[in-house]
Amino acid sequence: MTALLSLDKASIVFRARKGLLGSVPVRALDDVSLSLDAGETVAVVGESGSGKTTLGRVCLRLLKPTSGTVVFDGEDITRAKEKTLKRFRHRVQGIFQDPFSSLDPFMTVGQIVEEPLVIHGEGDADTRTMTVHRALEEVKLTPPGELAVKFPHMLSGGQRQRVAIARALVLQPELVVADEPVSMVDASSRAEILHLLNELQERHGTAYLYITHDIATAYHFSHRIAVMYLGRIVETGPTREVISNPLHPYTQALLKAVPEPDPDNRFRRRASITGEPPSPTKPPSGCHFHPRCPYAFEGCSTDDPRLLEVRSNHQVACRLWPEADAQARLPERPPTGR
Ligand code: SF4
Repeated sequence: MTALLSLDKASIVFRARKGLLGSVPVRALDDVSLSLDAGETVAVVGESGSGKTTLGRVCLRLLKPTSGTVVFDGEDITRAKEKTLKRFRHRVQGIFQDPFSSLDPFMTVGQIVEEPLVIHGEGDADTRTMTVHRALEEVKLTPPGELAVKFPHMLSGGQRQRVAIARALVLQPELVVADEPVSMVDASSRAEILHLLNELQERHGTAYLYITHDIATAYHFSHRIAVMYLGRIVETGPTREVISNPLHPYTQALLKAVPEPDPDNRFRRRASITGEPPSPTKPPSGCHFHPRCPYAFEGCSTDDPRLLEVRSNHQVACRLWPEADAQARLPERPPTGR
């Protein structure tokens, strides 16, 4: 099966200012390969600064990779011209973290949800109104006639994020890049919104690239998971397999840091990850995780581990998993799908 979206060795290199006149290269994304099938949810997990938002922006083609390719439905869109990108933007939409700043405060909910239809020249005013009302009903903002005339400041955080979802889905895209869509809404709305996204996926077959710092929601929401550290994917595989058998010490640390309820039913964090993420302007040599890794051993500060398949569809970049063993277990063809 051809992947809906695939990235092949995509890198983004910025230049960051250093001192008054100088600058240094920063690899915000470092040789990332990733694929996503129609109707599938792939979660991208990591701390802040891991490159996951940059990856999302590359998948939306808001950023052009410095090297590598982005292919959508068989078409290379890495350096596509505006006409191709317009078609692509009809089929791929984004939902962003902050429902407070991502909605224009001077537009009504109806105008916000209608805007993509206007940009892409869909229907006349009457059919657009019907489509907008249907989209509002789908995200459970009812009655749609009443909600459509409200302004964003009249809504709760959860309702605003539903407006953002309605706007993203009104064109019936095949792929939605959802960048921390629930991190700024209250806990009760969080589960509801993820449940809603699941329902919409079942109804319309939409694929999601779900970007999050929260490995617990990734567990409940995704089919596959990619764990990122300092611009690289360090572990990837089917979500249940990766969460039940995490192989990379960083994935293990992320899982240990997930809060669990104590006897008083308050959530407490079990352990935090040692040290701070290093600056991408000065990544550590060898394995980038070595200064924080409890298992670092001789050679980890000089040898850069590659992402290798060590179990069925489960890849990891860690020297604890010797290359020879990993290669012996590689399938004849690269894995696809879940
Ligand atoms: Fe730790 Fe070495 Fe594996 Fe890096 S390669 S995660 S430092 S054990």
